[in-house]
Amino acid sequence: MSQPSVLLIYTGGTIGMWADPRTGALRPMDLEHLEEQVPELERVGVKLSSVAFDTPIDSSDMRPADWVRIARIIGNNYHKHDGFVVLHGSDTMAYTASALSFLLENLAKPVILTGSQLPIGTIRTDAKENLITAIEIAAAKDEAGRAMVPEVAVYFEYRLLRGNRTVKVHAERFEAFRSPNWPALAEAGVHLRYDHGAILQHPTKPLVVHEQLEAQVGVVRLFPGISGEWVRHALSTPGLRAAILTSFGSGNGPTDNGFVAALREARERGIHLLNVTQCVGGRVEQGRYVTSRAFVEMGVIPCADMTVEATLAKAMFLLAADQPAGAFAQRMAAPIAGEMTLG
Ligand code: ASP
Repeated sequence: MSQPSVLLIYTGGTIGMWADPRTGALRPMDLEHLEEQVPELERVGVKLSSVAFDTPIDSSDMRPADWVRIARIIGNNYHKHDGFVVLHGSDTMAYTASALSFLLENLAKPVILTGSQLPIGTIRTDAKENLITAIEIAAAKDEAGRAMVPEVAVYFEYRLLRGNRTVKVHAERFEAFRSPNWPALAEAGVHLRYDHGAILQHPTKPLVVHEQLEAQVGVVRLFPGISGEWVRHALSTPGLRAAILTSFGSGNGPTDNGFVAALREARERGIHLLNVTQCVGGRVEQGRYVTSRAFVEMGVIPCADMTVEATLAKAMFLLAADQPAGAFAQRMAAPIAGEMTLG
């Protein structure tokens, strides 16, 4: 049987960094040096090809245009490979994974994002296990010869998580990610154990790669004492099309007139407001408390159990989509790629 084939897409991040001897600061290395650090890659039984960003970047510098760039690379190479591994900084990995899940419609092959907390050249690095297992998952097939994981996922520290359900929860621990509202798709121990019930079904239609995103979306985190003035400034950003309000608990916010008036003015100017909870797990239920009633009245879109990362990417994706007026709110509140569970 011929070996499965996986394309490695190297975008940057700690995984491929080295310490600059002059300043001690971490800088990205090129793909060739990265591969040299993992001689085990020769023995994984997978035919590996690779492509890299011309200039690898820290993921804090990732922009929506870069998400499209990665989606395009996958689209252009889709039929040549069984799966894809995206090497990416962990800081904004959950945003990129979310965006790819919307940009790659009808994905039937694994797109596994991974990275590490310590550079690949360091002795205690978590990079080797992450990289090798991510490749194994990207190459894995079921008995019918179809991809085991036909979706965008994040592999980190022995767990495979749905990309658009993932949040980075720790800045230092190797176990940096969680998906609080969805079970792990697989756990890696002695065996790789897949949770088939948690993994998306295979699509019936061919892949469509979307290349448009509307980046004029913002996030306003609510906090006790937040003023109408603060909110008004944020929502007056020229060109703004939508803003995510990260709310308290099950979707609540202050009831004071100044705050509510600032939101209402934005709604009157046609800005979409999206309600996502600040809690790590659980969901928005607008109207459950008096403190979310104003949101219901002014047509704030409740985003159920979506993460901020997924909501941001989905809003950028849907605002750029060719759709009838009024469809945005409806589509935001319905699942597209397993990113939300309806209550
Ligand atoms: N700052 C790095 C990045 O996100 C951190 C990491 O890779 O873990 O690119």
